[in-house]
Amino acid sequence: MKEQLCVVVFDGKPVNCFLRKWLHQFPHVYMASEISLELDYFSDMITCSRNQACSWFLEQENFNRILMLDHDIVPVRETMEVVKSPAPIVTARYVNKSGVLSHSVKGQGGAGCMAIRKEILKRVEPPWFAMKMDALGIKVKTCECSYFCDKAREAGYFPIKVGRCGHAMKAVLLPDNDDPEKVQFILPRILRDLLKKKGM
Ligand SMILES: [Zn+2]
Repeated sequence: MKEQLCVVVFDGKPVNCFLRKWLHQFPHVYMASEISLELDYFSDMITCSRNQACSWFLEQENFNRILMLDHDIVPVRETMEVVKSPAPIVTARYVNKSGVLSHSVKGQGGAGCMAIRKEILKRVEPPWFAMKMDALGIKVKTCECSYFCDKAREAGYFPIKVGRCGHAMKAVLLPDNDDPEKVQFILPRILRDLLKKKGM
């Protein structure tokens, strides 16, 4: 069968305009809300949505590869490397909400922009995506992307990162201390830590 890519976009929140435009080049694009009735954006539900998308994809005979994209992924030119790579599991590099490269360790990758070949989903036992919590159930110890990548590696498939993509998120614009013409872009999480340090 010819390489047939199926793009699934997690549209639990509005899909950003850059991603919407980028999607025009693909013949087979599906909104997760159209293939899954339980789509929601509570952190434990994103794992359900990803699993639903994967099991739906397994039933689609015309496709042999799925590309999952979150609503806030902003494609840039190098994002096409994910589409073009022949590797079994491919992700793009992107920055997370703490302002650092997400899943920077080798063999890991973010599910926000992840392509998987069908045979991998057949060989890795479900659930493909799950979150592991700490003992109190307060914090996520292992996110769903790492959970899947760990399982895939155990099954003999090494996820790789190629290219990169943007990640739309909220930032606070602060006036610069020295130059009134300049602004500083700060992520809320980083600003909170800075203010805490200053005792504010
Ligand atoms: Zn993750």
